Amino acid sequence: MQLLKDKIIKEGQALSSTVLKVDTFLNHQIDPLLMKEIGHEFATRFSDEVITKVLTIESSGIAPSTMLGLEIGAPVVFARKRKSLTLSDNLYTSQVHSFTKNVTSDIAVSRDFLNADDNIIIIDDFLANGEAVKGLLDIAAQAGAHVVGVGIVIEKGFQDGGKKLREQGVRIESLAIVESLEEGKVTFVEEETK
Ligand code: 5GP
Repeated sequence: MQLLKDKIIKEGQALSSTVLKVDTFLNHQIDPLLMKEIGHEFATRFSDEVITKVLTIESSGIAPSTMLGLEIGAPVVFARKRKSLTLSDNLYTSQVHSFTKNVTSDIAVSRDFLNADDNIIIIDDFLANGEAVKGLLDIAAQAGAHVVGVGIVIEKGFQDGGKKLREQGVRIESLAIVESLEEGKVTFVEEETK
């Protein structure tokens, strides 16, 4: 998605050779117009699917997910992250190891909001090692829901989450795939792989 790539080049900061900071439009301040275009792009790419629910994880997945939900007329459910969950019968839970924070957190979604009739799309801001997506796939599986695929705003192609998930047969649509962040310079994979 050219608009997104241009924005990353203009405003993204390679904090190291592995971490990209995009606080000006996605992770802290949000650019609503760009989010609207992102929602539209996800809707177009998955227009061959009937989607009943958008599933994401707090907090940075919420903005792009909401724009997609608005576009396709589907509710958005976000998994909550907690350090420790009080035991409850009414939650689907999983564990996610955060690559950027180096902590493992429990994530949870109320059983009220996902069920076996749902056709889910999973959305997240970044795909690195695939831990967040794996946790969301686990929660969808616990609900008995069908996952049509995964939409990612920025995939880091030099980390292996995308490769592992695609090998498992998961459909992944990434709007920008970063090839490298070496020497503070952001480069992209030319053709977005599907
Ligand atoms: P994964 O679970 O695929 O290893 O990492 C994805 C999650 O970690 C995303 O939800 C995102 O919040 C965070 N993340 C991973 N890499 C980056 C990065 O380079 N920049 C930012 N801002 N977040 C990242």
